Amino acid sequence: MPTFVRTDKCDGCKGQDKTACMYICPHDLMKLDKDGSETGHAMKSYNQEPEQCWECYSCVKICPQNAIEARHYADVVPLGGSVQPLRGTDSIMWTIKFRNGTMKRFKFPIRTTPEGSIDPYAGKPSADMANIAKPGFFNHNEQNGYREGDKSELINL
Ligand code: SF4
Ligand code: SF4
Repeated sequence: MPTFVRTDKCDGCKGQDKTACMYICPHDLMKLDKDGSETGHAMKSYNQEPEQCWECYSCVKICPQNAIEARHYADVVPLGGSVQPLRGTDSIMWTIKFRNGTMKRFKFPIRTTPEGSIDPYAGKPSADMANIAKPGFFNHNEQNGYREGDKSELINL
């Protein structure tokens, strides 16, 4: 079931050209209605094609205002219930509301290193655009273009 934006909470990411939900949606579904001509709510985002939503929760997790919620299938989350995440820099808190009013919170760590500390290209050569059409990887020379399989890396069930 798709996401929807709570207009009482959304601040349009303070008027940025690309809002956080637009940036993160893998299906390009979120859209900022700048002048309110599409939804009647100026400077609020909305899910422009709910039937295409993957329910991946990416927009729900990234929204800095916690303004996006997902409607769940009634057999998973009965009407009146909700599942809402609140992402921090090192953990995520899930708030589960049951339809009888019971509320539970679960907090999980989501990373072991400080946010922004990872340098994925550390020690790697810069990409050479002259090689863009050639086969191989950008670190081709480092590994001689080939790495023998290592059986110890296989998952044996
Ligand atoms: S990320 Fe949240 S606050 Fe920003 S535009 Fe989307 S719904 Fe609104
Ligand atoms: S739940 Fe995923 S697919 Fe659906 S609008 Fe959000 S980011 Fe896009």
